[in-house]
Amino acid sequence: MNTPAAPNTFASGGLDRRSDTRRDATWVAAQWARPGARVLTMRAGDPAMDGGRLALAPVSPASPGSDGPLPLPGGRDGTPLFLGFDATGPVFAVEAREDGPGAFADLRSVAGALTPAEASMAATARALFGWHARHGFCPNCGAPTGVTDAGWKRSCPSCGADHFPRTDPVVIMLALHGARCLLGRNASWPEGRYSALAGFLEPGESVEDACARELKEESGLTAVRVRYHSSQPWPLSPLGGQLMIGLFAEVEDDQAEADGRELSDVRWLTRRDASAALAGTHPEVTAPPAMAIAHQLIRAWLEE
Ligand SMILES: [Zn+2]
Repeated sequence: MNTPAAPNTFASGGLDRRSDTRRDATWVAAQWARPGARVLTMRAGDPAMDGGRLALAPVSPASPGSDGPLPLPGGRDGTPLFLGFDATGPVFAVEAREDGPGAFADLRSVAGALTPAEASMAATARALFGWHARHGFCPNCGAPTGVTDAGWKRSCPSCGADHFPRTDPVVIMLALHGARCLLGRNASWPEGRYSALAGFLEPGESVEDACARELKEESGLTAVRVRYHSSQPWPLSPLGGQLMIGLFAEVEDDQAEADGRELSDVRWLTRRDASAALAGTHPEVTAPPAMAIAHQLIRAWLEE
């Protein structure tokens, strides 16, 4: 395993989530009442910003849940979600109404300029609020569920089932053959945009299995050796929290062909081509931005 020179955007924010103690509602209420407690407001998945930084406001009497005992946290009604401790103290997140006031920034646009801690807080809040929005009813029996564990669990009062926030694993791989790497192009992307191939893991698959299957399906290539590079929480997809698992896949031969379904084109890039694509100087190929793990995979391969 290689550790990237810089953490992938949204990864390694250093938050201490206190997953052992956040189940205790009394402890959580005490953190909310601490003088240094701060709260991040999210609106439709986007964070409140202040002067280019994440707006972490002191918990005030106007903040939801600050008078009296802490209400059930993490709900969709403005009650807080406990994110964890940063270097300063406890941090919570709340959701603003979609038409609420305030300065919010598109997370995709600002993420690359946030500190790792800020990006991690915003990603975590976005993924969790998105999960709550889609899991109001018990998948086991259909009854409405309630929020517990400071926003990190939903429990069903009818059948007793507990439900935990989902993270969907996605493999993303840079296929390598000789001194070239393979990038693919989805027809819906902006002209010239190419990226590493990717796909969701299916039940019953290992990471290596999914990598081999996706490579075969999308490009016809056969993986012979799969190496892990790094991973990245990815909160920006429409369906919420994904984990991108970044891989290098050495392949048997270079007979690649786009499947014509997910990919409209695939092409091999020499190191010189790939370097130009990252730098934005390639005449035909634009690489993903630095905040995407595909960019970091290409960069790491160039530096090998
Ligand atoms: Zn149930």
